[in-house]
Amino acid sequence: MSELSFAELGLDPAVLEAVSAVGYETPSPIQAQAIPALLAGNHLLGVAQTGTGKTAAFALPLLSRIDATVTDPQILVLAPTRELAIQVAEAFTTYASKFRNFHVLPIYGGQDFYPQIKGLRRGAQVIVGTPGRMLDHLRKGTLKLDSLKALVLDEADEMLRMGFIDDVEAILAKTPENCQRALFSATMPPQIKKVAQTYLRNAVEVRIESETRTVERISQFVLPVYAERKLDALTRILEVEPFDAAIIFVRTKAETTLLAEKLSARGHAVAPLNGDLNQRQREQTVEDLKRGKKDIIVATDVAARGLDVPRITHVINYDVPYDTEAYIHRTGRTGRAGREGKAILLVTPRERSWLRTLERATNSPMQAYQLPSPVELKKMREQQFETQLLGFAEDGKLAKAMALLDEIAERNDMDTAMVAGALACWLEASQPGSLPLEQPEALPEISATAPPRRDRPGGKPGYKPGFKKGPKGRGGPGPKGKPPGKGGKPAGKRPPRQGEGKR
Ligand code: ADP
Ligand code: MG
Repeated sequence: MSELSFAELGLDPAVLEAVSAVGYETPSPIQAQAIPALLAGNHLLGVAQTGTGKTAAFALPLLSRIDATVTDPQILVLAPTRELAIQVAEAFTTYASKFRNFHVLPIYGGQDFYPQIKGLRRGAQVIVGTPGRMLDHLRKGTLKLDSLKALVLDEADEMLRMGFIDDVEAILAKTPENCQRALFSATMPPQIKKVAQTYLRNAVEVRIESETRTVERISQFVLPVYAERKLDALTRILEVEPFDAAIIFVRTKAETTLLAEKLSARGHAVAPLNGDLNQRQREQTVEDLKRGKKDIIVATDVAARGLDVPRITHVINYDVPYDTEAYIHRTGRTGRAGREGKAILLVTPRERSWLRTLERATNSPMQAYQLPSPVELKKMREQQFETQLLGFAEDGKLAKAMALLDEIAERNDMDTAMVAGALACWLEASQPGSLPLEQPEALPEISATAPPRRDRPGGKPGYKPGFKKGPKGRGGPGPKGKPPGKGGKPAGKRPPRQGEGKR
């Protein structure tokens, strides 16, 4: 878990200033591990997939270690494609924006040699390029590596796949002996391992398990529910799900407290987790969850980032997440340490398009969540009551209690069952809900897919992986009369509708 801030990592002040200017709040996991290792001058071997923040993981520490006033090439980055080279060069330019007279030069095949040679002559502290063209410049003598401090192989497995491995090795062989080296790759095929063994001896190794992969151990469910019935639905889920610990995600800090209070009133050991709590309070809450003093946490996305509590068996998305990434992060709070997890998403009728977006993003299907029927629910409650009751059959006071009740029955000409019934009513009066007498009402069922649109020729039914369609004519009594998209949710980023969610 990375709780260190960028400021605590020991980066150069100018680099740190640039990072705050871009608006990064906290280092990503690979950054938290790679930055200190590279700052200390180690070679680094990083195994991580795209989108984990690798560029800053090497750019920030390496920029912190060079002499920005010297315009010779000091950092060389090899990337598999021209697009990636440009991207990395742009990132370097951003992270070095507070240095004066600083140049980042992208060099790749397909472009004229002349502007590249001009750029090299003018001087650039950072060169980013594809291996072939880089080697050309080295052979021509237009690129010299005498002042080189660091070399980075970005997406090494990709470079191997594209047949650049010999060029890469040839370049490696031309770098100074004491040059610091970093190699990043999503996978570690034998050829890459060999390069690492030869050129990155004693490298610090950093491995980041992709969040996306963890979704595979998590079964995902969706429950469509009207906004005003969400709390009822949640209460029933918590009643029937055999959870060890659960985390419930909501959108706002205020909602974490509100919902936690409501669940606490229903007898759950629950605590809110949000950004208003100070670091110590947050740690305490997580500790309480780990130790079983609390079983449920109601959290916002930010507060729960990186939360690693193996006993979390259930993630309940009470409010839909802001984007698919947030969803993946949320669900990744369960299924930890190789265990199974269950994620349940509540969607209101307007939010149903999320289903498809999320299935696409996680590349795995969502099943329809089946709440128990009122009959089943009543039966369950009766069984629970019975179990609890039987628990007192071995109580030390049982014999005395029986004697007392017998006396009362005899004196009043009642049978003992009547006395026991009266006792149960007393229990219900003092702890409402303990006696399962009433059949709970059914929550309205909603189809998980939007009803077929009339204006579409033939009213083609949407995507439905085995979901029941809603009963005919039920348009949904949700927020009445409000135009779609202007409903009760606070303004701001709205979940994508169908078709908008591609990323
Ligand atoms: P990778 O190389 O691992 O695929 P990138 O370095 O390209 O990932 O970063 C992916 C995205 O994440 C970029 O848009 C980058 O600006 C952003 N990013 C990187 N680090 C952070 C951070 N600490 N906080 C927020 N965003 C970040
Ligand atoms: Mg990258």
